[in-house]
Parts: sequence; C-alpha cells; structure tokens
Amino acid sequence: MIITYCYKIKPTCEQSAKIDYWLELLRRHWNYANGQRLDWLNRTRCQLDRCSIVSCPIGEIPGKPDYYFQQSALKQTKILFPEYKEIYSEVQQINLQRLDKAWKRWLVPDNTGKRFGRPRFKKSGKLRSFCFSRVNHPKAAVKFDGKHIIISRFGAIPVIVHRPIPDGFTIKTATITKKVDGYYISFSLEDKSVPSLIPTDNIKTVIGIDVGLKEFLTTNTGETVAVPNFYRKAQSNLARKQRKVSGKKIGSNNWKKVQNRIARLHQHIARQREDFHLKTAHKLVKDCDLIAVEDLNIKGLARNTKLSKSIYDVAWGAFIEKLNAVAVKRGVHVIKVNPHNTSQNCSNCGQKVPKTLSVRTHSCTKCGIVLDRDENAARNILNKALCEVGIILPACGGLDVGQPEKQETSETWVQLSLF
Ligand SMILES: [Zn+2]
Repeated sequence: MIITYCYKIKPTCEQSAKIDYWLELLRRHWNYANGQRLDWLNRTRCQLDRCSIVSCPIGEIPGKPDYYFQQSALKQTKILFPEYKEIYSEVQQINLQRLDKAWKRWLVPDNTGKRFGRPRFKKSGKLRSFCFSRVNHPKAAVKFDGKHIIISRFGAIPVIVHRPIPDGFTIKTATITKKVDGYYISFSLEDKSVPSLIPTDNIKTVIGIDVGLKEFLTTNTGETVAVPNFYRKAQSNLARKQRKVSGKKIGSNNWKKVQNRIARLHQHIARQREDFHLKTAHKLVKDCDLIAVEDLNIKGLARNTKLSKSIYDVAWGAFIEKLNAVAVKRGVHVIKVNPHNTSQNCSNCGQKVPKTLSVRTHSCTKCGIVLDRDENAARNILNKALCEVGIILPACGGLDVGQPEKQETSETWVQLSLF
C-alpha cells in the first residue's frame, strides 16, 4: 500500500529563493524538451490529403526524442548552461520522466479508449514541484530526521510534522511543492502489506448511495447529507476580490498581492471541500461492508447546463475517489454500477415510472409504493450492486440490511413532508 503524507516546510528566504530558481530552470527545460518532441512530430508527419508543398521535412530528420534521448542530452545541457549543474541530475531526470508520462497519456489511449490533452508549454510559475526519488538512502540527496529535511545543496529545512509518519511505512520519494501559501513536502510512504477485502460471505451491512444536487447524497434508508455549497457561499467574496484586481496595473506589486489573495480563497474552498468529502467518506465506511455508488460521467453532465457550476462545486467524482481510497484501507467493497434507469425504475417491483427532473417523489403505478425520488434511486443502485456481487437480495429474505423496516418508513415520511 502506498500513501502520501504532506507537510508544510519553513525554508529561509535564501532557501525559498533557491527553490523558486530551481523551479524556473526546470520549467525552461520542460519547455525546451516539450518543444523538441513537438518539433520532431511536426517534421516527420504531414496530413494525408495534402501534397508536400504545404509541409515537407527540411533537411535531415533528427532521431526520435524519447525519454532516453533527452536524458542523455542532459550532459550537454550542463555544458551549455552551467547553472543546471547546481540541480541534482535525479531531479532533472524525474522532470523529463514526467514529460514522458504526459506524452504517453496524450498519444496512447488508456483502457477505456480515452486520451489526455497535449502536454502544455508552461508559463512562468506554472511548474510548481520537483521530486527526489530516494529519501534516507545512503546515496540520497534528501534525508529526513523527523524534524528537518536535510538537502545537501539547501541545508536543513524545518518541517511542521503535524502528524507522525505511521509505523511500518518507509519513505520512498519526496516532492517539494510551491503553493500559494508557502512550500510543502509530500512523502510517498510504502507499506509491504496489502489490505484484504472483506470476504463476500461475511458482508453484513450494505448501503446504496445516490448523489444529487438537492441533497449531496441520499442512502437507500432515506438518510441524507446536505450540499455544502462552498463555492457558491464564497462567490460574493471572490467577486469583490476580482473587482479589486481589475483596477490594478497588471504585473505590479499590488496586482500580485490581490492575485495571491484570490488564489488563497480558491485554495480555501478546495480544502473545505476535501475535508467535507473525507469526513463524509469516513462516516459511510465506518459501519458498512459494501457501498454501492453510481458510475457517473461528470464531464458529460456538467456540459452546457445551467447547473454546471453546482455540479463542479459538489465534485462527486472526487468524492467517490476518496470514498474508494478510504474503503480500500478498511477492506470495504465499493461497487460502481451503471446509473442507467436507476431513477426511473421502481425499486420495489421494477416497473418503469418515467419522470422528469422536477418530479421529486416516486409513486409507482403498479405496486403503489411512494418514496423520495433519490431514495428510490439509491435502492435501485444497491440492488444492482448486490446482483453484480452475487449476494441474495434482502427482499428475498437473504440478509439483514442496515436499519429495520420501521425506521425506513418513518424516514420516508420525514422526506415527504419536506415538499
Ligand atoms: Zn412498483
């Protein structure tokens, strides 16, 4: 199991200036290496339906600049630009490896057939981190003694260790990151153990979750978690700051100051959201053996709708990712199911009851059950997941689902009285 712990570091003025200088040099190198690859691509290709008057390779075609090509050119870089001698070659190599990864993600589709965007040229300040591949190794450039990180070319930098490194874990890599409120170090920690999933026969408590914009999530028992709306709440504050920045001269010190405040506000919103997601995930995982969620296409949902801001604000995708991570540690199953028809079908008898988004209650024409719309969907999601895993449905007398039936109906009534 590999986890990442992030700590704030307190470099001196000289140390932070040096970190900034390294980041700038690495950024230039990134842009150069990216340009080299793009150039090669442009020179060796022309569109199928064009004649060579439009594009034709000029001169000798250079060798393909893959990772190994670019890595071996590092020696030459150091001769031409002596300031690069200062940076550890391991840091420069990882910088190139990151570019190589970004290129592979762009050119080679992943197992779902999707490809990422073209690696960008980075503007000033946009390369924010560099990485060391070894920590506390005899040959490593970075050592961590529990209170400081000691880098031979920086000296000791104090670390605010707000939580200890867990027992049994060894530090593999260290990444120094510049964020708007200072510098951070992230350690990736490795533990040889592999968390095992709860065996299917031992699953006792199961839960189905439907996510939405009205309630952040609704469980199959009708419990709800409200939408926190962090972004919406901060919007007037953000707008005020953005009005302020528009009056400042671009690039001036005052402009930079206000820009930093805006960036800090965005960081604050992101941290609030992350905290909310983690707390909700822990609450769910704590007393469950199996959690069923929808497999959502958030990009598709958020496209061209009035609700896109709200959809990005709740960030279900990020939540489900965190839920997965929290669940894995405890051996809890998380099953993603296709959300097709989960809100339309009746969870009791399977009858399709078509309804638009504005219809908030599900009342079945066949069996007469009346439920909250989201609760019905959550039950459907749970049923689908149980079918996938091969557990007998609770309705058939298979196993005991969480809360007793009595509570469910009372919850339903509370739900209904809200409308
Ligand atoms: Zn029904």
